[in-house]
Amino acid sequence: MKVTDSFLCELRKRNDLAATVSTYMPTEPSGSGYICRCPFHKGIDLSFHIFSDTQTYHCFECGASGDVISFISSIEKCGCFEAVRLLAERVELDPPNEESDDKTALKRARMLEMNLEAARYYRDVLHSDMGKRGMDYLLGRQLTLGSIRKYGLGYAPGGWHDLHHHLKNKGFTETEMAEAALIVHKGSSVYDKFRERVMFPIIDIRGCVIGFGGRTLEKTAPAKYINTDETLVFHKRENLFSLNFAEKSADKRFILCEGYMDVITMNQAGFDGAVATLGTAVTPQQAKLVKEHAKSVVISYDSDEAGQKAASRAIKLFSDIGVEAKVLTIPGAKDPDEYIKKFGSVRFGELLNGLPTATEYVLSRLLTKGNMSDVVKYLAGLTDSEREKQMPTVNVREPDITANSETTVAEPNDDAVEKPVSELSNDEILRMIEKVRKKRGKT
Ligand SMILES: [Zn+2]
Repeated sequence: MKVTDSFLCELRKRNDLAATVSTYMPTEPSGSGYICRCPFHKGIDLSFHIFSDTQTYHCFECGASGDVISFISSIEKCGCFEAVRLLAERVELDPPNEESDDKTALKRARMLEMNLEAARYYRDVLHSDMGKRGMDYLLGRQLTLGSIRKYGLGYAPGGWHDLHHHLKNKGFTETEMAEAALIVHKGSSVYDKFRERVMFPIIDIRGCVIGFGGRTLEKTAPAKYINTDETLVFHKRENLFSLNFAEKSADKRFILCEGYMDVITMNQAGFDGAVATLGTAVTPQQAKLVKEHAKSVVISYDSDEAGQKAASRAIKLFSDIGVEAKVLTIPGAKDPDEYIKKFGSVRFGELLNGLPTATEYVLSRLLTKGNMSDVVKYLAGLTDSEREKQMPTVNVREPDITANSETTVAEPNDDAVEKPVSELSNDEILRMIEKVRKKRGKT
């Protein structure tokens, strides 16, 4: 049995979180969930909340949070692969042992454990004096402590061997650390890959830490963000940041953002469908991932030309696989973060609900650019009913009934293509569309 997404869904469904927690701690009902003493820190308050609807937990004292798999992994002090195996056994699902015989699977499990340890280390640093610079930055960006904890954010200190020595003390070898791309080999020496950076752990759908993004706080650093290199467990083209939260989003609408910070601020404002790619343009694999977990997607990229070009490419990718995609355009603010701060999240939600369709978006972009032949080519590629819907947008001029009939029915010559759209009638446009389609048919 392989650890597929559907296997994990089944596993979560059968291992109710509250029931699982109650085998370790006495719980009591509270609201729509349960509360209990936190098993992860010493304290007598009922600070540990179990949310039945999302099947997640959060301790409001120590910040421990996650789902049933991370709960078992933390309480049994094992890697998440082992936690999955334990949970599978409890509900008599075939445990995923086929892979565990395999050397690679063991290596993967070990790498995930090391990533988890690194994430804990970075997190502890952030919440200590050593991480003050990072914490100041995050609070300065108006993230709440709750969001910082929810995302397990951390800080990589400036030394060359901080994480290296920490992991060594935990029993990991230099070869393992280098394979996980946490340290870098240079000649005969090694050093930490991430230094003086705010750390964003990248967590997959199973709740495993598969890699990191690191944002520098140095103005002179060559790269603002760096990510973990490709490893046995980290494939940047096949994962999305915050998918572990977004897949539980109730409205099944993802919001595709450009960066990790955008995702977290959006999440903080209550839009838990926010995700981001991991330093690349959207890939076909990521589009498929969206399709698996959401019904539609809103693309929230920068309003500059580069951002809008990327948005157009993304629309194409999504529409090719049948996912409804819309592009977020924000009036009166430079990005969602600013808009939400100015007008509040209710207004932002209304904005999301009233977005133009992908076709309307592409068409209005082409019309703004004013190249009529591009508009015609685009319209020609649409189905008749789609085009019909769009024609009123294009029909910016009332039909001229006083014009003599010969000019109106005349075949548009190639000059017409150069005319601004406002000077073309629907009739002319339709003829041009026919022409383009005929040409396409021939080739
Ligand atoms: Zn706690």
